[in-house]
Amino acid sequence: MSRYIATSAIRGANHIVRETELYLQKALKEKGADAKVGFPNTAYFLPTILGLTGRKCETVGDLVPVLEQCKSLTHPVPARSRWTPYLGETLDSGIATLLSVEALEALRYLYGEQPERVPGFHLAQASFTSPEFTKDDGDGAGQLNGPIDDIQLRSWGIQLVDGRMPGFAALVGCAKSNEVAVKIVRELQRRNILIFLAGNVNGRSIIHQLQEEGVEMGYDTYIVPFGTDTLSAIYAIGFATRSALTFGGMKGGQSREILLYNKARVFAFVLALGEVDDLKYAAAAGAISYGFPAIADTVIPEIRPTGVTSYEHVISMPFDEIEGKDDLERAEKLVQKCIEIRGVKIKMTEVPIPVPYGSAFEGEVVRKADLRFESGGKKSRAFEYLYSAPMDKIEDGKVQVYGPDMDSVPDGGYMDIGIVAEVAGRKMQEDFEPVLERQIHHFINGASGIQHVGQRDITWIRVSKAAFDKGFRLADLGKILHARYHADFGAIVDKIQVTIYTNPADVNTMLQVARDAYNKRNTRLGDMADESVEEFYSCTLCQSFAPNHVCVISPERVGLCGAYSWLDCKASFQINPTGPNQPIPKGSQLDAVKGYYTGANDFVVQASHQQVETVSMYSIMENPMTACGCFECIVMVVPEANGVMVLSREDTSMSPAGMTFSTLAGVAGGGLQTPGVMGVGKYYLTSKKFLSADGGFKRVVWISSVLKKTMADELKKAADFAGDPDLLDKIADETICTEVPDLVAYLESTAHPALTMDPMM
Ligand code: SF4
Ligand code: ZN
Repeated sequence: MSRYIATSAIRGANHIVRETELYLQKALKEKGADAKVGFPNTAYFLPTILGLTGRKCETVGDLVPVLEQCKSLTHPVPARSRWTPYLGETLDSGIATLLSVEALEALRYLYGEQPERVPGFHLAQASFTSPEFTKDDGDGAGQLNGPIDDIQLRSWGIQLVDGRMPGFAALVGCAKSNEVAVKIVRELQRRNILIFLAGNVNGRSIIHQLQEEGVEMGYDTYIVPFGTDTLSAIYAIGFATRSALTFGGMKGGQSREILLYNKARVFAFVLALGEVDDLKYAAAAGAISYGFPAIADTVIPEIRPTGVTSYEHVISMPFDEIEGKDDLERAEKLVQKCIEIRGVKIKMTEVPIPVPYGSAFEGEVVRKADLRFESGGKKSRAFEYLYSAPMDKIEDGKVQVYGPDMDSVPDGGYMDIGIVAEVAGRKMQEDFEPVLERQIHHFINGASGIQHVGQRDITWIRVSKAAFDKGFRLADLGKILHARYHADFGAIVDKIQVTIYTNPADVNTMLQVARDAYNKRNTRLGDMADESVEEFYSCTLCQSFAPNHVCVISPERVGLCGAYSWLDCKASFQINPTGPNQPIPKGSQLDAVKGYYTGANDFVVQASHQQVETVSMYSIMENPMTACGCFECIVMVVPEANGVMVLSREDTSMSPAGMTFSTLAGVAGGGLQTPGVMGVGKYYLTSKKFLSADGGFKRVVWISSVLKKTMADELKKAADFAGDPDLLDKIADETICTEVPDLVAYLESTAHPALTMDPMM
């Protein structure tokens, strides 16, 4: 190991620990020991400190012992003559750096210096954020993201779990040119790798570079700008630490487990762009304890694997020495190399269209000012319909457009379109049609500059000017579908052809055909009851993060993440018979009301590694189903109201339980049975089997208003089924009350049925 890097990391650590101590002294004097510190919207205090030391820092005073610990981890800078192969001092310095930097960032929050503001900056995230993120102080500057909140962490959770999102790359510094910066980011997006941005070189940051090139940054585009200094890179480590706490079920202070968890499960690396100073070295030394290698695009001394693990790396890849015909090719190779060093194979689908493609573009919004063409929405109609056809009727890969293309429409204009996909496969079944059709949304959204909303005959597609100028046309929609169905559903789809209709007469004819099919499917799904099938399905996809959790999915109970219905599981089992969705023969019914089945019990015992012995399908009070961290909603008993509250993941406000979603999530998750608390998928609320053992939908006394709004029709049906058509008006939400006494008063004033039902407890 190089002496230089040890010296540099130790020197960097000593420096930052001293600086943090000075800042801490200042804060103790000016703000006092009791002044609150913390990051917004997280239940994990200062997460790296919590994870590695077990300390729950809430005040300036709480940081004092943390700093003492940091000091004990620092070492004297080695004399020139002393050489040691011992990596320990470097790793110690790295950990001291992470802890003190996080403390320092918390203090900077206290002083209003975080999150940082950058002139002319705009954050691309509509959802999940508190209003202060979009606040404009009138100085034309926009706030950078700062730390990632728990809600976003969990909402990415499922993608991290199922591998759609392999992990993250922390880009620190400034790329050789703007062009190179954009290329690096696009290469990462193509692979669905989350991108965190921090740091600068001589005041210039990759954040500035991307901003100048008009690259949208924010949760919606998977590019998260933390800050333009090196310190803010700590938020990446905070994210990794919380992954272990949230999905790995670890507790604060289990530092060894947390580091090992990250090494084994979290695919991440640091890419240092431009000059690497002492602080960056020290931070890189911290990152390698997590198993995250650091790759620099400049000449720096390397730390090669020591043999202890394969991941202790600091690698130098001087940009100009990378072989390639130009900088763009060199940038592409740099990214490839980083991925090789971290050692994960990433599946990538080549989609032959003229714009970049990857699920990183799924959240992209095409704004009115950028709009070239649209179909659907208020002014026109778009529909999509997929059905299976005999093998010999389909020519694989054929894409036809009948009628005029987007060129015939003026800028910002619209027309009706119909997208009809025909698929064939020896294992294809009619039941899979809706499952496959629903993928169109994700597939089309993966194209940069194309936005897809809705499904069936309420589809809405927008194409940006930039995508149009690059040559994107209607036929490309078909090419996307062809590439993706082969890549993702190759086990059931052998052939696919796509026809796009734009002549009004054709659109109308095909729309009628499609609507007949939608109706048929509606009734087929509507008729499907738990009693009418022989088997339920398991989902153990989340066990890579929550080792003992298993979802039992029945026709009337969707998986708690909302992403897996009974039909989806069935299709998934056909596609991958040894995969995470296995049929569970129901066995004999032990209790029809509470939903006890011998088959489900037997399955859950072994799949939960003996942690859960009995599972009730329909009760929250007795042996309720466990939860990992992915639930869309939390259902929790409010004893005083003799009912339950339903808190949505999208709701950041306080609830009658006295906790916000992110705090409550810690109670509901973790794969344990907690009577009175359950994580559920939001469509389970509308099921006839929703808490049917405990009184059903009439038990709901409080619900996040976002659910009332976005699921108005479905909830109305549930109210009708419960025999109380006005029930929704009797249910409170956070705009009405967040305290139990106010809730009870409201229920009394509306004569809510829960008040007169049998006692829940
Ligand atoms: Fe995870 Fe359950 Fe969703 Fe499967 S159904 S992905 S186990 S939350
Ligand atoms: Zn999960």
